[in-house]
Amino acid sequence: MTVLIAGGGIAGLSLALTCHQIGVPCKVIEAAREVKPLGVGINLQPNAVRELMELGLGPQLGQIGICTKAFALYSKMGRLIWEEPRGEAAGYNWPQYSLHRGKLQMLLFETALERLGERAILTGANVVGYANEPCRVTAKIEHRDGQIEELSGSVLIGADGVHSNVRAQMYPDEGDALWSGNILWRATTRAKPFGNGATMAMAGHATHKFVTYPISEIDPVTGLADINWIAELSRDKAEGFRREDYSREAALEEFLPEFEGWQFDWLNVPKIIRGAERVYEYPMVDRDPLPTWRDGRVSLMGDAAHVMYPTGSNGASQAIIDARKLGRVFKDRGLNEKALYAYEDEMRPLTERTILANRGQGPGYIMEIVEQKCGGNFEKIEDVLSQEEMAAFASKYKATAGFPVDNLNASPPIIPICT
Ligand SMILES: Cc1cc2nc3c(=O)[nH]c(=O)nc-3n(C[C@H](O)[C@H](O)[C@H](O)COP(=O)(O)OP(=O)(O)OC[C@H]3O[C@@H](n4cnc5c(N)ncnc54)[C@H](O)[C@@H]3O)c2cc1C
Repeated sequence: MTVLIAGGGIAGLSLALTCHQIGVPCKVIEAAREVKPLGVGINLQPNAVRELMELGLGPQLGQIGICTKAFALYSKMGRLIWEEPRGEAAGYNWPQYSLHRGKLQMLLFETALERLGERAILTGANVVGYANEPCRVTAKIEHRDGQIEELSGSVLIGADGVHSNVRAQMYPDEGDALWSGNILWRATTRAKPFGNGATMAMAGHATHKFVTYPISEIDPVTGLADINWIAELSRDKAEGFRREDYSREAALEEFLPEFEGWQFDWLNVPKIIRGAERVYEYPMVDRDPLPTWRDGRVSLMGDAAHVMYPTGSNGASQAIIDARKLGRVFKDRGLNEKALYAYEDEMRPLTERTILANRGQGPGYIMEIVEQKCGGNFEKIEDVLSQEEMAAFASKYKATAGFPVDNLNASPPIIPICT
């Protein structure tokens, strides 16, 4: 019997490749007619990079992403608050990659086509519901031409993102995602990278923030790289928000005036913003943790299970870890409800903690404290916060999100024997 996967995003395709690796048949059902390289920059933490390497994608990752070496926090005045090494520079056995989401999506999609064959991926097919039966589950699929098809499998995994239909059937009263009150404007700009060309930086505080990191190598001729950036501002909650859509374009005047003064010696924020060809608007949303991800032979993964604020750069990483944990339980227990229980028992508490930690600003919490204490203006950061306090917070967040360095390096791979 088969694993039915609703959604061919980062989560669904990672699961399909994992199923193929352990010899379990699967079928991906993807709503988009054509899979395209959409999105802007994302980060893959070392725990997720390790798993993609276990899937044999290490060399390709090295070609589409750059190894992030450091993570730095600045105040809104551009003053350095905290800097720490990342990836291999921090002692992990695997790198952290910053890369374009679309390139990762296409890498997973093309590899899945090559390894599983075209018949394993159905496109233009929207999963609109499911029905549990004693020994199988049936997914109801609506094709672009309006035709309805039913496909049966041993289990159905909802990997259908923030607007998951599978989750909506499990929780019909849940409603829309929850808006934090902040809007994110996201884009890439071809520009000279700051610092060592491999640092992720955040400047500002909870209601006025700029995040940036390069997602390509520096061109040796021009000295330029693709620089990913996110400008974040809080807005009046009473005004509501436009439903989250990763492809909604925005105009610069909606947010640029509030960053005009952010011209630091290490980064000229308004110049970077003006250099973007296209800017996308996205309301910062998440959903409350669920009491269970399971309904009979159906479970959830990725954003469908645990969409979180993107403050900790781990949405895509968590989706990949979900895929590997599902593969592990399928391998150990078979395609059944017990396997889905075991997966959820391990992953739901971890992601619940991360959703809540990200509501508390995630790693950017330190910036918020600095803003509250001195408005971001200081001579020496030690007069505001000690290095020990900041280090303790940074390692606490990594532990919450499931990638503390010693644990990860010492732990065996999630799926030990590659077949
Ligand atoms: C177009 C797009 C652009 C994005 N851009 C960014 C970005 O720039 N930065 C960032 O941090 N994150 C971005 N994300 C989100 C990021 O990919 C996820 O947070 C993370 O990777 C978790 O992946 P996921 O597979 O759970 O969800 P997603 O990557 O959202 O994938 C969900 C997939 O399910 C499909 N789908 C949805 N509903 C159905 C249905 N009913 N039936 C079948 N298929 C369905 C979608 O078409 C999509 O392919 C983007 C997501 C999408 C879909």
